Amino acid sequence: MKPYIVAADIGTTSTKAVVVDADGGVRASLSVEYPLYTPAADRAEQDPDEIERAVAEAVRSCVAKAGIGPDDVRCVVFSSAMHSLIALDRDGAPLTRSITWADNRAASYVDVLRQQTDAHAIYAATGTPIHPMSPLLKLMWLREHEPELFGRAHRFVGIKEYVLGRWFPDAGHLVDHSIASATGLFSLRDRDWHGPALAAAGVDADRLPALVPTTHVLEGLLRAAAERLGLAPGTPVVVGASDGVLANVGAGAQAPDEFAVTIGTSGAVRAVVKEPRTDERGRTFCYALTDDRWVVGGAINNGGVLFRWVRDHLATKEAEEARAAGIDPYERLTELAQTAPAGSGGLVVLPLFAGERAPYWNADVRGVFFGLSLAHGKPHMIRAVLEGVGYAVRSVAEAVEAAAGKPSRIVASGGFARSPFWRQTIADILGAPLTVPDAIESSALGAAALGRVALGDWRDFEPARAWSAASHTHEPNPQTRAAYDELFAIYGELYPRLEGPFRHIVEFQKK
Ligand code: ADP
Repeated sequence: MKPYIVAADIGTTSTKAVVVDADGGVRASLSVEYPLYTPAADRAEQDPDEIERAVAEAVRSCVAKAGIGPDDVRCVVFSSAMHSLIALDRDGAPLTRSITWADNRAASYVDVLRQQTDAHAIYAATGTPIHPMSPLLKLMWLREHEPELFGRAHRFVGIKEYVLGRWFPDAGHLVDHSIASATGLFSLRDRDWHGPALAAAGVDADRLPALVPTTHVLEGLLRAAAERLGLAPGTPVVVGASDGVLANVGAGAQAPDEFAVTIGTSGAVRAVVKEPRTDERGRTFCYALTDDRWVVGGAINNGGVLFRWVRDHLATKEAEEARAAGIDPYERLTELAQTAPAGSGGLVVLPLFAGERAPYWNADVRGVFFGLSLAHGKPHMIRAVLEGVGYAVRSVAEAVEAAAGKPSRIVASGGFARSPFWRQTIADILGAPLTVPDAIESSALGAAALGRVALGDWRDFEPARAWSAASHTHEPNPQTRAAYDELFAIYGELYPRLEGPFRHIVEFQKK
């Protein structure tokens, strides 16, 4: 059997490729970057052909870097960012750039959809929150703002469908159930396009790609494409899934009681579940992984970006001194935070600085330092910010628990995982042991695991656990935890009481 799987993750800033051997060893990895165009404040677009070239280059260069021959490649498999939308003409040529998840042009269509139809019922059927990232709302925007283009568009696809369509023109455009489940147009239970959502978007199913399982194998890779990819013609290509669901697999968080917690610039909590589940209060998303696994979770805007705010606006002097001494400012600031007690002496931060997605889905909220007294100083404020991000993560984790049950293990990733102190804080606030896997590119690794399942090498993802050995484990500290439980209860009181004042202060700020 050919030993290597090539996996590529088509992300927002770059495509990351890995070559993985039969034991999950990463033989080579690299990334190829591309621009994100922001011609206006509410736009975030990419050039589909630039991305197609980058994906081909990432695969080709990674195979070369691994020092393996094209004949050693068992299959290629893809992961991709969700929620992108590209309009294509009859010949498959793009009529628009790829409108990414970060594009906010459809913001006002959240309310339009709510007025026109039962938006909660659409969320409950599709698992995609009613949010401007959703292709459903982007289609509504296009139909009203670009009616001529909307009418002329033969098909609407996402970036992975576009790239694969270029290499397999005879297959037509195909979308895997996972990417489809993040469009707001796909019924999780029917595994088919959702009629009411299509009606709201104003498209028929024949203007969308054909649906296939994430394990679908494409045969007949064009010779010209194979050359650009550095592969043998006919190499099987597995369509793959979305980056979010595959990240769980790649990080070894593949049972309902294993929560993946990411805190990078933003943050997310996700768990794999055995049936599709949406939330009565609309707090969480649910996206497909395979035909019998789904991922429930929620994303927050206010993760590490808050610590960056502390570094750049609150503790500028300390950060400057650290830099001058050749120390990472974040390390210096976490040391300072530790001079304050757990719970920051009763200072609670509601970290909603940038508006919030899960669990509130409210752009018009802002941050709060609650409980400030004359006894509090900078260390308390810094620690309270790190704890506040933890409370936000816990509020999403509780929403995920409603679908997945209590976590018995937390798998951590993102920039925060570099800090032992912040890791321990999150373990204490969530009340479960937290581990950090060694694996770096978890979405690409998860894609490689999906490749094994698709080709029948594995029955399920269990063997992939061995790929993500944990390097650090933090047990929750019972003493600290008690303080955090008490403060989290107070945290929970703040948002519902502040909804009105939040609206007023945001109106003022927007004047
Ligand atoms: P991105 O989401 O942009 O990929 P990262 O995953 O690198 O970003 O996370 C960046 C964030 O991680 C920073 O804003 C900061 O909050 C946090 N971070 C980075 N390094 C450290 C560190 N040494 N200690 C604590 N937090 C850190």
